[in-house]
Amino acid sequence: MSAPKYRRVLLKVSGEALMGSGAFGIDIATVDRIAADVKDAVEAGTQVCMVIGGGNIFRGVSAAAKGIDRAQADYMGMLATVMNALAMQAALERAGLSSRVQSAIPMQTVCEPFIRRRAERHLEKGRVVIFAAGTGNPFFTTDTAAALRAAEMKCDGLLKGTKVDGVYSADPVKVKDALRYDTLTYHDVLTRELKVMDASAVSLSRENKIPIIVFSIHDRGALAAVLRGEGRATVIKE
Ligand code: UDP
Repeated sequence: MSAPKYRRVLLKVSGEALMGSGAFGIDIATVDRIAADVKDAVEAGTQVCMVIGGGNIFRGVSAAAKGIDRAQADYMGMLATVMNALAMQAALERAGLSSRVQSAIPMQTVCEPFIRRRAERHLEKGRVVIFAAGTGNPFFTTDTAAALRAAEMKCDGLLKGTKVDGVYSADPVKVKDALRYDTLTYHDVLTRELKVMDASAVSLSRENKIPIIVFSIHDRGALAAVLRGEGRATVIKE
């Protein structure tokens, strides 16, 4: 088998990706399928860190619009990401992988606190490390948390698993002839306001020269293909 193109990556999965065909919450079959993809990646020799969103359970901005103080709502959103991280850890274990959850908001009885050097050791031992509770700060997103952890952990790719197989000029579900890009620059994404990741996540990745690879998290095998430098994806770099 050829050596993986990426030594260490951070995989960002949105909360919505865990819902499967449901409208809310966690679909176990979907989480298990993602875990199987992660297992393939680990077995192919790539160290994998993960950040999971919380949008399938709670989103701060929406709750703030209904009258909950924004910072308070965001803390609730961050707690939602911890539930998703624990569900993902359980799925990774069912798949036979060893993993650790590290939370940006310490909660010792549930998981480890985020300690970069400790995360490093876990990865060296072949464990998947799931970073929960976003950045630990309100007014941020898990996209920014993913870019931040990717930089801290010196990842050589930030993989964003989405509903579709890359970045398009318009929503391909609504616009039939939307154009799909193989590559884009960070500048393109920022100036053309392409909906990939929020601007702070893109800027942070640009500053740290970490390519963002957008691919479909719903296609079994797509992650492993991307890690071999094959498959359909959009690569965002300088
Ligand atoms: N959140 C936050 N700070 C962070 C990361 C997340 O306050 O660093 C909160 C925010 O309220 C957000 C929610 O957690 O709406 C869920 O995260 P996100 O919306 O990024 O999840 P996704 O869209 O990826 O499912």
